[in-house]
Amino acid sequence: MQNIRHLFFDLDGTLWDFHRNSYDTLHEIWLNTPQIHRVTVSFDRFVHTYHLINNELWDQYKAGLIDKDFLSVTRFERTLNWFGYFHPTIGKKMGDDYLRLSPLKTQLIENATETLEYLKNHFTLHIITNGFTEVQHNKLKKSNLLAYFATVTTSEEAGISKPHGGIFTYALRKASATSQESLMIGDDIEADIEGAKLAGIPGILLSNFDNKTNGCIVIRNLSELPKILLGHATVLSS
Ligand SMILES: [Mg+2]
Repeated sequence: MQNIRHLFFDLDGTLWDFHRNSYDTLHEIWLNTPQIHRVTVSFDRFVHTYHLINNELWDQYKAGLIDKDFLSVTRFERTLNWFGYFHPTIGKKMGDDYLRLSPLKTQLIENATETLEYLKNHFTLHIITNGFTEVQHNKLKKSNLLAYFATVTTSEEAGISKPHGGIFTYALRKASATSQESLMIGDDIEADIEGAKLAGIPGILLSNFDNKTNGCIVIRNLSELPKILLGHATVLSS
């Protein structure tokens, strides 16, 4: 780890608590849309269906088959349709509300701020994230994370998503960094770790569950990073 000067972080699920923030946003939207309470049995069923449809549409977006405007509205329209409710105006409003409200949520992964605060004195920090540029920047700003990062690369800006190697080489160029002096830290073994490997960047996986490590280091908590990267005993609280 001695040559490492640049740390590239994934955002969603690695620093910004995507699951809790997304759940809170969907709940807020659900509460603000009384029309759909008549057709959905419960909020949890609504969320479950939304996630299935959203994942399918994200795969199509990553494959370049649909654009972001289509994705952001259609995921809600199709969820409503699944419950037998056909109302494009409501679907459009929910899609717009999600993009507006979600980046305002500020729940972070445990020890995110403390770890970045420590690492910023030793490394140049960067973000590589799959997502819409405006949305991801707003999340960083609102969560007080933006100042930690020298560069932020989004898949929308790069024109290519993780796990494709192209987004990592784009980010290296933007950061004026080489793969030999860089490290990727993320919570998705395929998108973050395998993807970075395609660009010659080694990775550290943040995961409580994943044991399919393919030789990469796995951490359970961000607070483990200072010790791994610097050999210092952690100064963090937990
Ligand atoms: Mg992630």
